[in-house]
Amino acid sequence: MLPGGCDIHAAFDSPTGLIYPAMDTGNLTLRTNSTAHEILVDPKTGRARGVAFVDSVTHKSLEAKAKVVVVGASTLESARLLLLSKSPQHPNGIGNSSDHVGHNFCEHLMGPGVTGLVKELVGKEHGIEDGRPGGFYVPRFRNLSDKQPGFLRGYGFEGNSGKSIFPDSTDRPGFGKQYKKEVRDYAGAFINMGGFGEVLPRYENAVSIDPDVKDAWGIPVLKFDYKFGDNEKKMAEDMAVTAKEMFEAAGIEVIGVDKELLTEGWSIHELGTSRMGSDPKTSVLNQFQQSHDVKNLFVVDGSSHVNASCQNPTWTIMALAWRSCDHLADELKKGNL
Ligand SMILES: Cc1cc2nc3c(=O)[nH]c(=O)nc-3n(C[C@H](O)[C@H](O)[C@H](O)COP(=O)(O)OP(=O)(O)OC[C@H]3O[C@@H](n4cnc5c(N)ncnc54)[C@H](O)[C@@H]3O)c2cc1C
Repeated sequence: MLPGGCDIHAAFDSPTGLIYPAMDTGNLTLRTNSTAHEILVDPKTGRARGVAFVDSVTHKSLEAKAKVVVVGASTLESARLLLLSKSPQHPNGIGNSSDHVGHNFCEHLMGPGVTGLVKELVGKEHGIEDGRPGGFYVPRFRNLSDKQPGFLRGYGFEGNSGKSIFPDSTDRPGFGKQYKKEVRDYAGAFINMGGFGEVLPRYENAVSIDPDVKDAWGIPVLKFDYKFGDNEKKMAEDMAVTAKEMFEAAGIEVIGVDKELLTEGWSIHELGTSRMGSDPKTSVLNQFQQSHDVKNLFVVDGSSHVNASCQNPTWTIMALAWRSCDHLADELKKGNL
């Protein structure tokens, strides 16, 4: 990782932090415009022998041979790839003897939250932008030592303040000089926060291969059978009530409370479709994200998470992938794969 981030000033980005350094080793060939649609299986051993893909520009079908196949196409696409890879040894899709691939799909629930006005800041000269970050995080507090009636697990709050927030609910009528003054006076005085809650992993929340619909390359797409349950609805109710209480306790004038849950899938934090575990009957991968069924197949993305927790997932996805790759390198050195 580069100290101080990359040339777009993000703390991290994959090309700068991972892909270019890997290319510098001379051991990486990057083939763009390649859409994988099947993990190929050796008919004698049942092990993975490579990947079939389509060149998305020429539409040509191609194959890449491999000693080990490492899938990291993201939670949904990796599940799709595994489920599409059927063979006599793997009739339900590769690595799917447990029938858990695609199941236990989970993410975060979002929507409920609160917007407030910090009256002391109205009319204060803040400048156009003070350059300070306005974000904050309230870590999970429910069901840690207490036992919350109504729901399991918990949520955190992510909040924001500063010039970027000028909520619709405070839209002021008017125009011209007076209007500009109002906007200047109120800009920077608003604050909001919203819950990030854990959607419980449930076997019945699943993705599967759609029997009818195909994508532009003729590859079947995923079908979703995924719904929030009672736990998510109860948690969402608590988020709205608690957010309001917190702002009131902090002396912030509450000007809006959102109670509605955003629709399923909104969080874009997809997880859980090839969960890890020690029992091959109820999990797809071991602790190194290695398939229980097919030892030379790894799935190094959010698919392996056993639950969504309530935090943003990507650092954990990356840390686990790193650990799995270290293990894989060791196994290759020892001649175990
Ligand atoms: C708008 C937005 C904001 C987000 N903000 C945050 C945040 O603040 N914090 C956080 O933790 N997470 C955030 N996330 C979630 C985060 O982006 C994901 O958790 C993370 O990118 C997952 O990493 P991944 O490597 O599994 O998948 P990806 O980053 O999606 O990488 C998968 C790669 O595989 C490629 N691929 C997929 N299918 C195929 C195929 N069939 N053949 C060949 N290649 C394929 C894709 O092109 C892609 O390059 C955000 C997501 C979105 C969309």
